[in-house]
Amino acid sequence: MGIIVQKFGGTSVANTDRIRNVARIITETYRMGHSVVAVLSAQGDTTDDLIEKAAEINPNASKREMDMLLSTGEQISCALCAMAIETMGYPVTSLTGWQAGFRTNSAYSDARIKRIEPERVLAELDKKAIVIVTGFQGINKYDDVTTLGRGGSDTSAVALAAALHADLCQIYTDVDGIYTADPRYVTGAFKLDEIAYDEMLELATLGAQVLHNRSVEMAKRYNVNLEVLSSFSGKPGTKVKEVAKNMEKMHVSGVAKDKNVARLALIGLADQPGIAFTLFSLLAKEKVNVDIILQSIGRDNTKDISFTIKKEDLARTKEALEEHAARLNFKKIDVDDNVAKISIVGAGMVNNPGVAAGMFEALYNAGINISMISTSEIKISVLVDVVDAERAVQVIHDRFFGEINAER
Ligand code: ADP
Ligand code: ASP
Ligand code: MG
Repeated sequence: MGIIVQKFGGTSVANTDRIRNVARIITETYRMGHSVVAVLSAQGDTTDDLIEKAAEINPNASKREMDMLLSTGEQISCALCAMAIETMGYPVTSLTGWQAGFRTNSAYSDARIKRIEPERVLAELDKKAIVIVTGFQGINKYDDVTTLGRGGSDTSAVALAAALHADLCQIYTDVDGIYTADPRYVTGAFKLDEIAYDEMLELATLGAQVLHNRSVEMAKRYNVNLEVLSSFSGKPGTKVKEVAKNMEKMHVSGVAKDKNVARLALIGLADQPGIAFTLFSLLAKEKVNVDIILQSIGRDNTKDISFTIKKEDLARTKEALEEHAARLNFKKIDVDDNVAKISIVGAGMVNNPGVAAGMFEALYNAGINISMISTSEIKISVLVDVVDAERAVQVIHDRFFGEINAER
């Protein structure tokens, strides 16, 4: 008998029947004798709808007011779920992020959790109540509401599990667990029984939205016992842990796709020391996160540097580069935002030199051109044309998992 944190995503609480279903899962766990804390997302597309509503009134609304608005979605689902549990005759209390002790920094719309003061939650658990907590939000040092970034309820749940020293953190969603690729788009994708924190962190960062990447980072840091499973099927899910058992054959654990990418190239930079430093320190000052970087070999005393960034940073980055054009002294900026980053992740690839070649061969056979490559010990990413993105994921997945699938 211990503390279990259960997180339910937007699809899992999308309507009355689903809220009742979630209430059933929570109360079944409670009946087994556990202390249960549930963290809920906003219902269905509520957060998107609120963003649209705000844009109708003020397309340039301040981030503070946006957070004030967006945090309400989670309050609705939590109150409704608590009401459903009341009808079932169990003691229950719903709490907002601030009531549950989430203290964050002041980066509205993308706030980081600084600490959790769990006294209120613990007091409710002591009274044997089921506690329902709004995901995605906290308060800053001014007592203003902040939100944690899209998909942030996963991070709320893991952070609460860490603060409460919970025995288990279950992330209930609309798929059975973590798959080798997004099961909605990739034929032959299959569920993994286990995955290592490091691999999942890469997959989440590289576009697999099934977990918010900061939730995985936090789970690893505090060694949270994490599981991803379906709120609909009742089947066992995927365990995320320090070291995962893997089939010997699987050098690759998953394929991810990220379309939120833009590529910039600075053409005709001077081929002399300090250019990369000047360029990237400027971008760091602008708080632009740079991902893949490619520098050409100098020729005729000039060189080119290409790099990728998030699409939402494109306008700001271009502006900063143009403003400092004289200092950087490039001939031209070339921008392409019709690109996608496709990545493979696997702790087993470091000892298997053929993995990169296998990925490139699959793309070559499909006639897909690669414009940039980046590698680390456990991942390889390539930049391709956005129109090729889905096909690229499929052929790469077939290449690495086709044989395993045939044997299954
Ligand atoms: P929730 O609302 O429960 O937080 P999300 O929509 O954020 O759910 O995440 C679940 C979705 O993640 C799935 O419906 C699936 O389409 C997508 N997804 C992307 N990559 C993967 C993957 N490797 N394994 C499982 N699901 C994935
Ligand atoms: N409701 C928020 C979103 O849609 C947070 C979450 O669901 O995790 O991004
Ligand atoms: Mg999510």
